[in-house]
This record gives sequence, structure tokens and C-alpha cells, in this order.
Amino acid sequence: MPSIEWHFHAAIYRKRADAMAVLHAHSSYTTGLALAGRRIEPVTIEAAMELGDVPIIEFMYPGTDELGDAVGNAMMGHKAAILLNHGVVTAGRDLAEAITIAEVLEATSKITFVASHFGGARLIPPDRIELIKKLNKV
Ligand SMILES: [Zn+2]
Repeated sequence: MPSIEWHFHAAIYRKRADAMAVLHAHSSYTTGLALAGRRIEPVTIEAAMELGDVPIIEFMYPGTDELGDAVGNAMMGHKAAILLNHGVVTAGRDLAEAITIAEVLEATSKITFVASHFGGARLIPPDRIELIKKLNKV
């Protein structure tokens, strides 16, 4: 049986010709930070390289066309999105890439969570991120 969330899986495949795999998970740290109004930021090289901007989608009832459309639109030009009060969705060229993005997203959230308890995260400066991307041909 397909998941009730087939609407947003299908929407991403329709809108993203490069997406060959879509992953949905109820990632607790990422969902929790989003609920607290925190955005995903470049706290590590992995986060800067693998994630980019991660949009947050307002709460919508699961398994609906409305949520499917919102996720499909949010994933245009983004590797991942956060569904408020719900979880995350990632897309990749294959399942391994979609899993990697989800793992980096949750690890980034854990690091941000820990740093927030000790005064907040010091981000990688934007000019350094550009250099990292250039050196890694991203
Ligand atoms: Zn779900």
C-alpha cells in the first residue's frame, strides 16, 4: 500500500525532473527546531554543502492535495523542506542521496540544538562557504 503522503511524493516527481527518490521522515530535532522558529543554518561544512536553504511549510493536514501542492512547490530548487508539526521531506538523484540529505539535515539540527544551549551556533562565514563550494565544485 502506498503511503497516504503519495500526494507530495508525486508532486515532487512531477516538478523535479532530477528527483529519482523522495524520502519523508518524522525527524524529531529538525521538527522541534522549526516549531521553535529556528531555521537550518550552515553550522558545518556538510550543512553548507548538502542542504542550502531549507524552506518551512506551514501545518497542513496530512495526506491532502493541499499539502502535496505546497510540498511540490517548496521543493522546487531545494533539496529538503520541513513540514511544520510533522517532519521532513528530501529529494535526490537516487535513494542514497535522499537519505544522505535527511541524515545531514537531522545532524545539523542536533548540532544547532546543542549549540543553542551554550549561547548559539557560530556559523561558517558566507565567503568561506563560497570558497568551500568552489573548491568542491558544488
Ligand atoms: Zn508523515
